[in-house]
Amino acid sequence: MTPDYVRDFPLASLNTFGLQATARQYVRVSDDSEVVQALDHARRHSLPVTLLGGGSNVLFSQDIEGLVLHMASRGVRLVSDDGVMVTVEVEAGEPWHPFVLQTLEMGFYGLENLSLIPGTVGAAPVQNIGAYGVEIKDVFSGLTALDRQSGKLVDFDAAACAFGYRESCFKQSLDRWIILRVRFRLSRQPSLRLEYGPIQQRLQLLGIDSPTPQDVSNAICAIRAEKLPDPKVLPNAGSFFKNPVISSEQAAALKASFPSAVLYPQAEGRVKLAAGWLIDQAGWRGYRKGDAGVHQHQALVLVNYGAASGAEILALARLIQDDIKRRFGVDLEIEPRII
Ligand SMILES: Cc1cc2nc3c(=O)[nH]c(=O)nc-3n(C[C@H](O)[C@H](O)[C@H](O)COP(=O)(O)OP(=O)(O)OC[C@H]3O[C@@H](n4cnc5c(N)ncnc54)[C@H](O)[C@@H]3O)c2cc1C
Repeated sequence: MTPDYVRDFPLASLNTFGLQATARQYVRVSDDSEVVQALDHARRHSLPVTLLGGGSNVLFSQDIEGLVLHMASRGVRLVSDDGVMVTVEVEAGEPWHPFVLQTLEMGFYGLENLSLIPGTVGAAPVQNIGAYGVEIKDVFSGLTALDRQSGKLVDFDAAACAFGYRESCFKQSLDRWIILRVRFRLSRQPSLRLEYGPIQQRLQLLGIDSPTPQDVSNAICAIRAEKLPDPKVLPNAGSFFKNPVISSEQAAALKASFPSAVLYPQAEGRVKLAAGWLIDQAGWRGYRKGDAGVHQHQALVLVNYGAASGAEILALARLIQDDIKRRFGVDLEIEPRII
């Protein structure tokens, strides 16, 4: 089937910040051949291509002068099963959280801590999504991507993806790869990760002594629903800044000046700092300018109270970055892709 190309397409409902940007052209693609056709169309009309999944990690700072290619392919397949471990292959356009729930129903475990993260399966490797002590690299088997430079399909294993904290090779060359499908290695035997934050407390509160992966997923959904604003109610893109990773010397100096600083030791003597703590300390939590603001309870989340533009949210982010640099000498890196 030839996909439909729509001119001057409003993107407000396709990004969780609810930003009112317009795409010069828009196309929804459901399989590999439609992706190839859309790329061909863009080439013939000299349109730059912007790839979009669930729009939960992007900030449109202006209208898109090109073709927005919206990944909508669907399908979940079991590709191997040795009785203990399974490999599941998923099309890029599958929504992430329903896929996590589907794996739990099938009795395949490993994704429960990543419940309720918005977005699509295809975007998950781009920033190696992570939550509650698990990242997708921990359950990743491989993926197939289309190389826009050569037009060839390429298989990636975990090493080739170069996963890091909210990082991968795809984030480093955003316009090169279109992830078409992702494979996950999951287990039929639960191996629960409960050590992170309030998971155990929440399970105790619910009176659950021997939790199942489904219980863990439910607990995490409940914690997340309390902690993070629902984009449908208060548009946002989750954490707006990455947690900065600094040297141990810098961390020690910071701790000496600010004894309550939240620090997490990392490999190779590096230290991760809670960006939310820095922003909170600097007094930004609850700040609002026009319709762009910092969430009242979660300093790491920038929100759109209604009619903020992407440029206004970005301007607020720059003010926060400058202030944190001035106060603490720390660089805050923006997590969502600015388009
Ligand atoms: C309330 C909220 C909570 C969140 N919590 C978390 C969290 O706990 N942990 C976490 O890691 N993230 C979190 N996020 C961020 C976001 O959900 C993830 O980054 C998610 O993977 C983005 O998926 P998406 O489909 O919406 O991507 P989009 O926002 O559509 O795209 C993000 C980037 O990926 C690219 N991209 C999209 N699809 C593909 C593809 N098929 N191939 C190649 N590139 C592609 C886009 O071009 C863009 O550069 C949260 C966001 C929100 C709004």
